[in-house]
Amino acid sequence: MMKNPDFTQLREAMVREQIAKRGITNPDLLRAFMDVPRHSFVLQEEINFAYEDHPLPVGEGQTISQPYIVALMTEALKVRGGDKILEVGTGSGYQAAILAQLGTRVFSIERIPSLARQAQALLSSLGYHVTIDVGDGTCGWQEYAPYDRIIVTAASPAISPLWEEQLIVGGRMVVPVGSEFSQELVVVDKVSATHTKSETLGGCVFVPLIGKYGFAK
Ligand code: SAM
Repeated sequence: MMKNPDFTQLREAMVREQIAKRGITNPDLLRAFMDVPRHSFVLQEEINFAYEDHPLPVGEGQTISQPYIVALMTEALKVRGGDKILEVGTGSGYQAAILAQLGTRVFSIERIPSLARQAQALLSSLGYHVTIDVGDGTCGWQEYAPYDRIIVTAASPAISPLWEEQLIVGGRMVVPVGSEFSQELVVVDKVSATHTKSETLGGCVFVPLIGKYGFAK
């Protein structure tokens, strides 16, 4: 029988080598990555690779993002304790756990029911209170709007008008925008009810967002 690796040591190495060394040094953020057990969010057969420097499959053709990308997006989001956050694309629930660990209130919407169910059960078993529903997150999630922050964790052809609408004035969103094959990570600040300001953080590759304002099935 194969012995489980020491996940705490692997997690420390991930935080040090993949996140801090690449310039993300916010201590609260690094602590959150130390506190969330990433190996709980991957498939059992991938558990030995949970702390490696790349995305992994989570079933249903979907992925858990590379740790550094999760860190980069979380840092760019500039969350404050108590913020109400919409995550589009729950997937494994890992990004939601990081945000919850930072003291925010997370509302996460997922298109695939089985992933939403698994993520909800896992997050609850780990003690994270995250509200998850199944739906088309390209339309946001009107029920709990407005949000202080919106994070989209799948590739979008454009910024959905409904995300803009559901973000508070002064709020921020982080979205991978581009084609189905490659995207730019875009940070959007809603500076007034009718105006936004954007900057780009660099290239990335996400699975596509499928829905009304996303890509076709
Ligand atoms: N944040 C996730 C995590 O921490 O594991 C990774 C998300 S994965 C890269 C992208 C997710 O977006 C997939 O689970 C996919 O099913 C979901 N998705 C695709 N289109 C969607 C839509 N219109 N609304 C909500 N979720 C969607």
